[in-house]
Amino acid sequence: MSEVTSRDGAGTQVFDALIVGAGFAGLYQLHCLRDRLGLSAHVLEAADGVGGTWWWNRYPGARCDSESHAYAFYFSDELLQSWDWSERYPQQPEILRYLNHVADRLDLKRDMTFGARVAAAEWDGAATLWRLRTEDGRRYAARYLVTAVGCLSSANVPDIPGLGDFAGEWFHTGTWPHGGVDVAGKRVGMIGTGSTGIQAAPVLAEAAAHLTVFQRTANYSIPARNRPLDDTFKAWAKAHAAEIRQAMHSTPNGHPWPLGERSAHDVDDAEREALYRAAWEKGGLALRATFRDILTDRAANATAAAFIKARIREVVKDPATAALLAEVDHPFATKRPPIDTGYFETFNRDNVTLVDVRADPVERITPTGVRLRSGTEHPLDIIVFATGFDAMTGALLRMNVTGRDGLPLAEAWAAGPRTHLGLQAAGFPNLFIVTGPGSPSVLTNMPVAIEQHVEWITDAIAHLRATGAATMEPTEDAMDRWVAHVNDAANATLMPEAGHSWYLGANVPGKPRVFMPYAGGMARYRRICAEVAANGYEGFVLAGDRARVPA
Ligand code: NAP
Repeated sequence: MSEVTSRDGAGTQVFDALIVGAGFAGLYQLHCLRDRLGLSAHVLEAADGVGGTWWWNRYPGARCDSESHAYAFYFSDELLQSWDWSERYPQQPEILRYLNHVADRLDLKRDMTFGARVAAAEWDGAATLWRLRTEDGRRYAARYLVTAVGCLSSANVPDIPGLGDFAGEWFHTGTWPHGGVDVAGKRVGMIGTGSTGIQAAPVLAEAAAHLTVFQRTANYSIPARNRPLDDTFKAWAKAHAAEIRQAMHSTPNGHPWPLGERSAHDVDDAEREALYRAAWEKGGLALRATFRDILTDRAANATAAAFIKARIREVVKDPATAALLAEVDHPFATKRPPIDTGYFETFNRDNVTLVDVRADPVERITPTGVRLRSGTEHPLDIIVFATGFDAMTGALLRMNVTGRDGLPLAEAWAAGPRTHLGLQAAGFPNLFIVTGPGSPSVLTNMPVAIEQHVEWITDAIAHLRATGAATMEPTEDAMDRWVAHVNDAANATLMPEAGHSWYLGANVPGKPRVFMPYAGGMARYRRICAEVAANGYEGFVLAGDRARVPA
């Protein structure tokens, strides 16, 4: 166990570094700080086990939309060779087993405290320490604080009047009960048709007596074409790990497939259709990479959008339902594009109804179900909220972070999050954010982004210790430039056109509308971060003398 550096009179446990969160990011960060730098490092995790998003999201059908052989740590060949994925797209229980395997193999759990939700994190400038308090009153302190709280971990339950009076049961997909929910014979209503709802609907429909899907915004989805992986593929992936890693490091999205080199306008209609059809049959997110300009050129995007809408109309038998599902109001992939297993086919079942809550919004939850503005009632036994998350900033702000001179992070970010490289914010010394706002994170294959962040943060902390600097934080000027660059990168794409997306914070009432992830691509971001470090952490202030800082 990493040594607790000290305990003060108030029972505070003091470490060199505290890490909040035990998902992909927290696991690797602990390994790097403890086993590579030799620091005393400790993880605080609200859940009762490792896994992060995969510990919480146990809803029916929960599955990753990165291919399994790419959804893994690549920093350790030993880890890669010691694990076999069973399916093209891993299911939640398998990912959770994988993350436990990693934690056990690297002997990480002995330096973790579970059931520890951070209620406050305050910078103590006099002691040069972050002081943390958990909800149950335990106290911790550390020189470095790394948040590894994920981008999509603060569940968003819409404030619909009457929910408290509902006589049935209701659940948010992001906090699904661990024992599961028995929907057999029940009338289930599901609100939300994002990636989660699209995965959950087919599985719920199979078990429930009736499933009513409340759709506000129609969505594109591409068939996953999930399948078991055979031994030949598994052996190939292990033997070619170095090439797969190289491919993932060289693409904008961190997936092991490249962005097409041609424009959608470079080919005639027949060839374009054939390419889309091949991508559709192959399945998965790579359809969006068919041409290089799908996310940047409106007309190019329209060709992909039209192709997918035609497939929806082909699959769904009832023309009115098909029209509702195919009336997507934003360009393709400007919201995170889901992949599915039988989503549109689900609406051909006799026990499934699609309700258009754009035309007739949910007015209130009654004791017996959902009532729409028109007065139409949908009687339900169970309501499933597949309504997403307070993304990218929600989990960070929920920790009540207070920086220098008592500045709350919520105040510093009142007009939207401001960071340098998504990694640090001025006024919050030694606070490092993994996959924070202003980083590529959610626009990429997450483990690739996480590995890069964790390694950059580890190198930065090693640099601080080698140079004797006590603190590190960006300048306001560097932050202004990065925020401007993040905006420019977003505006160079069509993504801001999806005005109601969580990328913009638009799904949470009152949240400032700022495009949060960095859309410039993972490979470019990696180069920028490396240059910043090579130039002596350009844009960051490294200050103070560690030798004079009290322990
Ligand atoms: P989401 O994309 O934010 O979708 C939420 C859905 O709920 C939207 O359809 C939204 O409609 C609807 N909604 C929200 N409030 C509503 C209200 N008051 N009334 C009616 N409808 C309402 O959330 P998500 O599906 O959980 O996905 C979030 C992200 O998690 C994904 O984009 C992805 O990055 C990640 N994820 C990944 C996977 C995977 O790897 N396979 C699976 C699930 C999730 P509007 O569009 O009209 O706002």
